[in-house]
Amino acid sequence: MERHNCPNCGAPIESTQCPYCGTVFYDFTVLDSDKPSYIRMNWHGNQIVFRAIMKSAEIEVRDDPIPYYADNEMVMIQTHTEVTASVEFMILEDDDGILLKRKELNDGQY
Ligand SMILES: [Zn+2]
Repeated sequence: MERHNCPNCGAPIESTQCPYCGTVFYDFTVLDSDKPSYIRMNWHGNQIVFRAIMKSAEIEVRDDPIPYYADNEMVMIQTHTEVTASVEFMILEDDDGILLKRKELNDGQY
């Protein structure tokens, strides 16, 4: 991974987690959307690994005006703007026909 600065604290970092403030980075720029990747994550108390291909990536901006009543008149107010980012992966069988592998923590292998 190329060297960059933590967007949270500005410290120079070379991994997926800032050693100073603990901020974690998900750098999806390394993904080739046409080729399978291996993803390791914590899921329901277990560390799992799976082979997957990116199915979709979206950023959604949602503005929901909220109605309320003031002096018997309905007024619409903008209470918040919610912006979400979602990346969806299709999980594929690995070479052994396995979809999800549970990994022991710190076993050092994918
Ligand atoms: Zn940091």
